[in-house]
Amino acid sequence: MAACSPSAEIEHLRQENVRLRAEVLEVSEANARAAELMVELEEARELLHTQNQELACQKLALSEALKSSEAATNAKALFLANMSHEIRTPMNGIMGMAELLLETQLSPEQRDYVETIKSSSESLLTVINDILDFSKIEAGKLTISPQPIELRAAISSMLRTVAMRCQQAGLKLLNEIHPQVPERILVDPDRLRQVILNLLANAVKFTHAGEVELSVRLEQVERGAAGVHFAVRDTGIGIPAEKQALIFQPFVQADGSITRCYGGTGLGLAISSRLVALMGGRIWLESSAGRGSTFHVVIPCVAAAPQASDSLPEGAPPAPAPSRPLRILVAEDNPVNQKLAVRILEKQGHAVTVAPDGLAALQAWETNPFDLILMDVQMPRMGGFDATQAIRASEHSTGSHVPIIALTAHAMKGDQERCLSQGMDAYLSKPLRPANLLEVIGRFAPAL
Ligand code: MN
Repeated sequence: MAACSPSAEIEHLRQENVRLRAEVLEVSEANARAAELMVELEEARELLHTQNQELACQKLALSEALKSSEAATNAKALFLANMSHEIRTPMNGIMGMAELLLETQLSPEQRDYVETIKSSSESLLTVINDILDFSKIEAGKLTISPQPIELRAAISSMLRTVAMRCQQAGLKLLNEIHPQVPERILVDPDRLRQVILNLLANAVKFTHAGEVELSVRLEQVERGAAGVHFAVRDTGIGIPAEKQALIFQPFVQADGSITRCYGGTGLGLAISSRLVALMGGRIWLESSAGRGSTFHVVIPCVAAAPQASDSLPEGAPPAPAPSRPLRILVAEDNPVNQKLAVRILEKQGHAVTVAPDGLAALQAWETNPFDLILMDVQMPRMGGFDATQAIRASEHSTGSHVPIIALTAHAMKGDQERCLSQGMDAYLSKPLRPANLLEVIGRFAPAL
């Protein structure tokens, strides 16, 4: 084949040139697109980086918020413990003095006034207890401690508590306990009492005529387990359907104006429903306006073993008051409470020495023999826990043991455990009721 002519070669080169130009153009366009992509990627990277930084900041802020809300919760619990103390201490004085006053010579008019002071202070205490209970539940600080109880005795005691109010309101109080209901069950007695008494008190409060009935029966709950079913029925004003879902909410009453007509904190049912849930049970109601209400509570029931013959039966009459006068040391800084304790104890014939703080109590105990010590917890100079520990430490060498009963206005969870772990033998929370004080002293008297 002959060599290409120069013109054909030029033509070939020209075409090659065109093709290469096109290719270069393509590559440069691709490069431009790649550069654009690189810019976009860089932008996206920066955006993600910024977002990550923001998220990290948010996470930090949230964890700080969590920390500060935990701190706030703790501060709230501490505040409540202190408020509890601050409120109960004067309440102790008011209620105790009213009780002492009622035992003196009074004209009918004076008696009426004092009775009113006493019943008002009791209502006030109920309100305070409601608020403290609710706060404890909200803070998750309320626990359930089941123990074996004689159910029928516990129920009679609840009914006795409302019987007077029923009678005054002209209401019939009915009670039915199904024979299948076990004699002894394992339940938190204080919390069960609180729930059922709240329902009974509500029934009495909202019923103007007719009757209030507590019926108790055994029923099967899920998976064959048994439950005790309490039903509190009244013939009262009832609760309209649209309000029924609300009444277990805190701070809500069926009728906003009800507070004015009927009083109360509006916390009773909210507390009851939370307590029932903590006990693993269920609470609900059936009601229609004007035709009365029935509140139902089912608590899982574990039958308790029959009681040992040597233990004190539940609901038994309190131990008798000590027959001989005791030498009692009262360590208490509040003058009103000092006076109250002294008067209650002296009326029983006991010899009382007062120490205004833990240090003085310690000195008194070192120099004089005492049969029993009533020990306030919060005192200046030396508190009740320190004083108790010092007494227990020096008893170590002699092997003696003076009963120490804590008297404290602290009513928060763990106070009882704390008192007992600090070497105290028993615990009484203020406001101090003369009957409770004498009962506890009576418990220690046989050993004295
Ligand atoms: Mn004190």
